[in-house]
Amino acid sequence: MQQEDGRYLFDDALEMIITFDDAGKISYLNNSARKKLEYGDDLLGRSIGVIFPNTFETSGERLAWEEPGEDQIKNLVAYRKNTTCFPVEVRIVQNNSLSNEYICMANDILEREFLSREVERIRDEAQQAMKVKSEFVANITHELRTPVNGILGNVRELLERELEEGTEKSLRLIERCCDDMNKIINNILDFSKLEAGKFNLEARKFHFRDMMDYVKQTHMNRMTEKGLDFFMTVSPNIPEYIIGDELRIVQILNNLLSNAQKFTSWGKITVEVFRTAMVNDRMELFFLVSDTGIGIDKADKDKLFQSFSQVDASISRKYGGTGLGLNICKQLVELMGGRIEVESEKNKGSNFSFSIWVGICEGDEAVLQQPDDSRHSPGMISQSSENGEGPDDIRIYGTEENQKSLKKNLSKLILCVEMENWEKAESFMETIRQLTEEAPQDVKRIVLRLKMAVQKENYEKTATEFEKLDSFLN
Ligand code: ADP
Repeated sequence: MQQEDGRYLFDDALEMIITFDDAGKISYLNNSARKKLEYGDDLLGRSIGVIFPNTFETSGERLAWEEPGEDQIKNLVAYRKNTTCFPVEVRIVQNNSLSNEYICMANDILEREFLSREVERIRDEAQQAMKVKSEFVANITHELRTPVNGILGNVRELLERELEEGTEKSLRLIERCCDDMNKIINNILDFSKLEAGKFNLEARKFHFRDMMDYVKQTHMNRMTEKGLDFFMTVSPNIPEYIIGDELRIVQILNNLLSNAQKFTSWGKITVEVFRTAMVNDRMELFFLVSDTGIGIDKADKDKLFQSFSQVDASISRKYGGTGLGLNICKQLVELMGGRIEVESEKNKGSNFSFSIWVGICEGDEAVLQQPDDSRHSPGMISQSSENGEGPDDIRIYGTEENQKSLKKNLSKLILCVEMENWEKAESFMETIRQLTEEAPQDVKRIVLRLKMAVQKENYEKTATEFEKLDSFLN
């Protein structure tokens, strides 16, 4: 047990360690044993019976004691040099490399009990502090909300009057600032509720496409102001009504779309929603929010969903924000049984995707069994693709026509990718997605990954996912 530097392996172990031979003669004691038993080297060569007088007795050359089994733990009483004693939990094992040596490992029971009480006390204190913090945050956000809403109410009242152009502009600015302030206050409140585990989701029936339309309308003005194209696609096999927490789904989408819009100065922003799984009366929805903005460095991606995290200080100075949004999204998505992920590269845009589980309403079985021929159903928000047109059976996965069409579109896709014509590749990709809408789960997942790789114009990823899909279909 002696190391190269002359020290012993057990020197700094927390438990007391003492070694002795079969005559009971002590050959080693570590620092913990020295401290607790108040002995020094003077204990070396003496009998183990000095420390445990009631257990070990020396009769002549041999130690008289009941040799315990390997894993047997015994409660004994250890005696200090000054003859005071304390209870210990002891395990004695034979040294594998020295057959006549025993290793005694002892823990001070009172000290251990004290430590576990300390741990409990610290845990209670931390919980109490957390509770106080949550209450403080709830109070302070409430106190902030009241004056902000007061300003907002008065500004809106003023805005209803006939105003000079300059005054109206200033008031609109104040209105926007108040809205932003309210968003921050709400984020802080949500975050503190989520942190304290006091967040309850609602499960109510609502019109899914109306909700998506509402989200679209909310962001349309700002997108247009910035000159960005904005598209939304909802897969036709999602029924009109679903059961879930509409407010919170909107909150997640709003957050992702506000970020997309904030970090994109040209190009387009798209939202796509797919149905990716169905189990009994529940289904999984997959949302994909893509932008052509500043993107995120690989090294920073992991930090994104942590609370108060912004990619770097210059970004927060330029674009503002608290860094709470994505963390709240992550927690909400997880409460809805899903996951949130990001695919991004610096200067190459970002794809945020998340999945959630929602309830299916009774009476929607027909829609759920319908293939994707309801693409033009009323109320659908759709970004149509020329290549997706065609007879219905082409889009019924597995039919001969479907497989032929899939192969044709896949070879066109890879050709576009090879020629770096990403825009065209995207339109073939959309067709492939529609052709595989009814495909089994694993195919659909590969298609989604392929689509993300194409949108990101990532050659390697596209090639890998293409290979997977191609070999799957063959
Ligand atoms: P905030 O609430 O301040 O917007 P978020 O948690 O929503 O914070 O976002 C954290 C950081 O993630 C942002 O400050 C930004 O650096 C980065 N980020 C989020 N979305 C995007 C995006 N679409 N493009 C580029 N960077 C993004």
